[in-house]
Amino acid sequence: MREKPAQLVSLDVNRASGGLREPLFGLDAESLSKLLVAAGEPAFRGKQIAEAMYRQWLTEVPEITTLPAPLRAKLSAESWQIGRPTIACAFKSVDGTERYLVEFAGSAPKGETAEAVWMPEGDDGEAGDETSPHEKDWSRATICISSQIGCAVNCQFCLTAKLGLQRNLTAGEIAGQVVTVLDRQAVRVGRDRVNLVFMGMGEPFLNYDNFMAAVRLLVREVGLSPRRMTVSTSGIVPGIEKFAREPLDLRPKLAISLNAPNDAVRAEIMPINHKWPIAALINAVRQVPLRPRERITFEYVLLGGVTDQPEHAHELARLVRRSGLPAKVNLIAWNPGPDIPYATPKPETAEQFQGILMDNGIPAYIRQPRGRDIFAACGQLKRTVEA
Ligand code: SAH
Ligand code: SF4
Repeated sequence: MREKPAQLVSLDVNRASGGLREPLFGLDAESLSKLLVAAGEPAFRGKQIAEAMYRQWLTEVPEITTLPAPLRAKLSAESWQIGRPTIACAFKSVDGTERYLVEFAGSAPKGETAEAVWMPEGDDGEAGDETSPHEKDWSRATICISSQIGCAVNCQFCLTAKLGLQRNLTAGEIAGQVVTVLDRQAVRVGRDRVNLVFMGMGEPFLNYDNFMAAVRLLVREVGLSPRRMTVSTSGIVPGIEKFAREPLDLRPKLAISLNAPNDAVRAEIMPINHKWPIAALINAVRQVPLRPRERITFEYVLLGGVTDQPEHAHELARLVRRSGLPAKVNLIAWNPGPDIPYATPKPETAEQFQGILMDNGIPAYIRQPRGRDIFAACGQLKRTVEA
């Protein structure tokens, strides 16, 4: 059968005003097929483009050699681009952590960046209960990605909060950070053990639809397992309720930034607690159906003198026990940032805090700070080109 002349039917639909074309990266195989069918091409061409972007990690339309040359030429002539995010800057820490400033394609403003972090030895928090601490190989790595540029939640101890919310990232921009980092590190999907944490800049549950669309792309198109993904929320109750209704084969694990053992302290450091206090938060979390052996992670930032005292640990143990949830606690010593008036506790204080939780039967881990020297540690992700 002869190839039909490529010029006959234009693919030139949905072009954004101003001539800028939004990236193909972010569309799933089904949407791509519809797009191609609308332009008079067979549906399987859409699947080929999805394979090229999400499995082969190609970044330019002319590289997609599974497509006939005239179709590639037509796509390029009409300014279609894969438009996967790119790494504008990379900073490498002495501990192997790499922090990337990621730039976006299409109509995203030039110079605007979000941050992604590669932690080759994993993150003791999320991997803590599943992987051996002696396994030093980077096949036990963690990628931390952003869901928004900036954040609107305004937690008092967090550097990202200082930016305010600049904008939501699209599904393609969120999933694109992951693929860009996988590609840079030559990860073999399905063979290497890589955890994903949605714990970079932003509050994923205030960008819920794009966040979940990104998860679906990562699971269905890229081939990653949602059991190796953890999303962290500051406690957006309507978001948790929606999350509870997601199918298990598409749902990441859940981490809650609890950060305080009672409403008074929590409201002081996380103003969001006025809207959704701890009881409402715990009630919402109870609605999330768990997989066998799955646990909820409670993240707890240790702020010197504010949340790190023995009485806080006892109160936290009671709170977790009374919640009735299968849970573990990840303790994070506060990572400092300029103009934030908190103190980092001594390692002994963190260990004592952990000891109290463990004595009370609550599994507790101290998350090692990664990449502190390059401002890549938790809460230090701020859009800046300085290292
Ligand atoms: N917005 C989401 C996810 C990103 S923040 C959330 O808040 O859960 C990821 C984790 O980093 C949260 O648990 C948060 O409490 C913690 N964090 C923020 N700033 C920090 C800092 N300066 N030091 C240590 N942990 C911090
Ligand atoms: Fe936003 Fe999370 Fe930082 Fe709070 S801790 S300001 S929710 S990024």
